[in-house]
Amino acid sequence: MNEMTRSKIVCTIGPASRSEGVLVKMIEAGMDVARINMSHEDHPTAKKTLETIRSVDDTIAVLIDLQGPKIRIGEMQEPVELETGNEFRISVEDFVGDEHRVSVSHKELPDDVNPGDFIAINDGIVRLMVKSTEGSEVVTEIVQGGPISSRKGVNVPGIRLSCHLPTEKDLDDLDLAAEIEPDLIALSFVLDADDVKRVDDIVRENGPKNVDLISKIEHKLAIDNYDEILRESHGVMIARGDLGIEAPIEEVPVLQRDLIRKANMWARPSIVATHMLESMTHESMPTRAEVSDVAHAIFDRADAVMLSGETAMGHNPPAAVSLMNRIIRRAEKRITPVDPMDITSPKKMIVEVIGNLVYNTVSLLPDKIDGIVTATRSGFTARWISKFRPPTNIYAVARDATVMRRLRLLWGVHSVKYEQDLDSVDDLVKEAVRTVFHQGLLDIGKDIVFTSGVKHIPGRTNVVGIFHVKDLVS
Ligand code: PGA
Ligand code: MN
Repeated sequence: MNEMTRSKIVCTIGPASRSEGVLVKMIEAGMDVARINMSHEDHPTAKKTLETIRSVDDTIAVLIDLQGPKIRIGEMQEPVELETGNEFRISVEDFVGDEHRVSVSHKELPDDVNPGDFIAINDGIVRLMVKSTEGSEVVTEIVQGGPISSRKGVNVPGIRLSCHLPTEKDLDDLDLAAEIEPDLIALSFVLDADDVKRVDDIVRENGPKNVDLISKIEHKLAIDNYDEILRESHGVMIARGDLGIEAPIEEVPVLQRDLIRKANMWARPSIVATHMLESMTHESMPTRAEVSDVAHAIFDRADAVMLSGETAMGHNPPAAVSLMNRIIRRAEKRITPVDPMDITSPKKMIVEVIGNLVYNTVSLLPDKIDGIVTATRSGFTARWISKFRPPTNIYAVARDATVMRRLRLLWGVHSVKYEQDLDSVDDLVKEAVRTVFHQGLLDIGKDIVFTSGVKHIPGRTNVVGIFHVKDLVS
């Protein structure tokens, strides 16, 4: 078997990568999670993509990324160059735009903005300052000119718009999710915990039954409300594309580090996204800065790094995955250990004490211990073991295929399927370790650290022990 990387790779699937042949190559190159971006995919395509992935390898996690309250300008006759200093109007009427006036998808925009607010178009390249609103139009001054064209994205940094998550489109896409059952759902433009709760309620009611919610952090308010968002989410994405428009661009690396650190403290997996190997969309090699960016995301302790256009529409998606894999492999040899006490959450939980114990055990016995085996029902225990980044593989033994797939996002976790449902700790240890051993993953002459919850105390991780592999398998 290919030696696994500890940090995981999320790949956006699109026109360049949705065929079976390319998907197989991307999986071989190290893809762990396949992302279907609902901003760009229709339902039949999304469904087909998920089916193809499942048929090729049903251990790959599939993430459905909801568009959320993303605003766009309307159609334009032709691309135009807006000139700094000129007036420009944004209208909620429907018409074909030009260099004076353009329509916008968010019909309450004139009510949501005030004079002095900024509006950004086209990835923040063009910046407008609101001067006034006149009925259905927002009158602005172009403070930073540049090109705009049909359907370019609009950001209104720092402002709480009246459209919120989930939009009509998101509800429609959630119906699709209930039908096709992805493993993860990402929520764009989360502003606070209520946004996550609203989606969570819908998912609980309509399905999919087993899904983790990933909040995309890409708005100023999400940073302000980060603690409560983390509490309600299973994981987060540092969505640097929009984040770099909503916050000053020089803040992004600092935010990335701080957001990952806090997610890690609360055992929420984090994904660093956007422009990671951007130049590989067209070129066969990335820039030095891009290689360095991927490595630094690993040094920042991200669980996963993501490819967007590189794999969705790039000229060679498997090459981008393969290069990302190489960078991760090299960078993770150089991760600086962190004192577990420095990243322990203020909420004193038994599962976290066990995670800390496991980390210390492995660190103190580097030559004796050949892996961590954890029997996990929901993936909860595995998350709190992974968060400490122990220097050996974590084998999460699970019965449920959907749990196994969701574990695919977690740093250092490799899931292994087993069938039994056992009550006694003795039986559980023996069966779990045998299962991992028979997959050729453990050295018979070494020890393992075992941890789990036992059945009669549900939802608790309460057992940790060191066992000699040979004693359990022979
Ligand atoms: P998007 O999210 O690609 O859906 O916009 C990622 C980002 O904003 O970085
Ligand atoms: Mn975004």
